[in-house]
Amino acid sequence: MGFPALWESLLPLGRDNGTGGYQRFSWTPAGAACRSWFRDVAAERGLRAGTDRNGNLWAWWDPPAAGAVPEPGAALSAQDGAPAWSPGPGAIVTGSHLDSVPDGGAFDGPLGVVSAFAAIDALRERGHSPRRPVAVAAFTEEEGARFGVACLGSRLLAGKADPAKARALTDRDGVTLADAMTAAGHDPDTMGPDETLLAGIAAYVELHIEQGRALGDLGAEVGLASGIWPHGRWRLAFTGRADHAGTTRLADRHDPMLPCAAAILAARDAAAGHEGLATVGKLIPEPGGVNGISSRVTAWLDARAPEESRLNALVGQVLAAARAAASAHGVDLDTSQESFTPAVEFHVGLRDRLAGVLGAGGAATPVLGTGAGHDAGVLAARVPAAMLFVRNPSGVSHSPAEHADQADCLAGVAALAAVLEDLACR
Ligand SMILES: [Zn+2]
Repeated sequence: MGFPALWESLLPLGRDNGTGGYQRFSWTPAGAACRSWFRDVAAERGLRAGTDRNGNLWAWWDPPAAGAVPEPGAALSAQDGAPAWSPGPGAIVTGSHLDSVPDGGAFDGPLGVVSAFAAIDALRERGHSPRRPVAVAAFTEEEGARFGVACLGSRLLAGKADPAKARALTDRDGVTLADAMTAAGHDPDTMGPDETLLAGIAAYVELHIEQGRALGDLGAEVGLASGIWPHGRWRLAFTGRADHAGTTRLADRHDPMLPCAAAILAARDAAAGHEGLATVGKLIPEPGGVNGISSRVTAWLDARAPEESRLNALVGQVLAAARAAASAHGVDLDTSQESFTPAVEFHVGLRDRLAGVLGAGGAATPVLGTGAGHDAGVLAARVPAAMLFVRNPSGVSHSPAEHADQADCLAGVAALAAVLEDLACR
């Protein structure tokens, strides 16, 4: 099956027909539909599929001589009814994620997973078989949209997130990750670093839609990633006093919305001043009445910058402004860092090798930095990792308007197939 049919088969799952955006959150019915899709696509191709101990999905394309029959007792997980399977050694892994932000676009994540299967199809059609194992991976909770920690599945795998803390994470309804996983039929007690799986991976190559317009400006269909800016999430909880909107004199108010607003405006100024990016995209006023002053407002700051020193300065400026405004309004402020990802420089040798493969036809492939976090950025701490970007004409992402032209998607599949052929089939 080629890319278009595979893409169409995933498109309806988790789509909000009102907005055209996606609500594919981990361990929900929409997430389960995406997981079934992954297992079905793997089964149609005769790929061994399974779930690792952190809920990430894997589908293995084995070399003809090895691994065709699962070894008894070699199961990393028998969950999701998957057959026993073992990783590597020397495996080439590609993939991305299937979860979305609230009302996300169709391409962020799924493009990498669909392209991975399509690239394997293309290699098989050309008569290739791998000399080392190839795997398609789909990492869970990459967006952190439900439980707040981005790249949670790959962080747990790589030993970059504490399993006990992860189990206790809650969604906005107070449901813990442990309970959500259990309800979906996955044992949360197995979560944690998986050294056996990591040791079997020689390289991870993630294809992703570009979340900016650099490739469009350069007139290129496909690019390579140089690295990822350091970035993190901070929670700011402003606690004031609930009161009547119609009877409380301005001078008597302790309205937590006001210092929150000041902090949001300060974030914009701090980002501009430090050549970074800062966003407050989530805000919860409680109790949330139209005619009442809130008792508490919680805001989440997402901040990114080209270097850690500039990121620290940016966040420091926002928190100082938030504290000053809170104190001016007689409001308490509690802040905490929810996640932090240091700067990532992708493996130079792997990137040069990919550049050689992709540049074989002529023009050099552009190399781009990005402010967006990815599973490849997390895994880069443990295995050689690289990323391919596919042109996004508008640059819009995390929105129903996110788009890539089909010709560019096909160019992405061809690029990924060439990379897999070079890394795994020679
Ligand atoms: Zn993504």
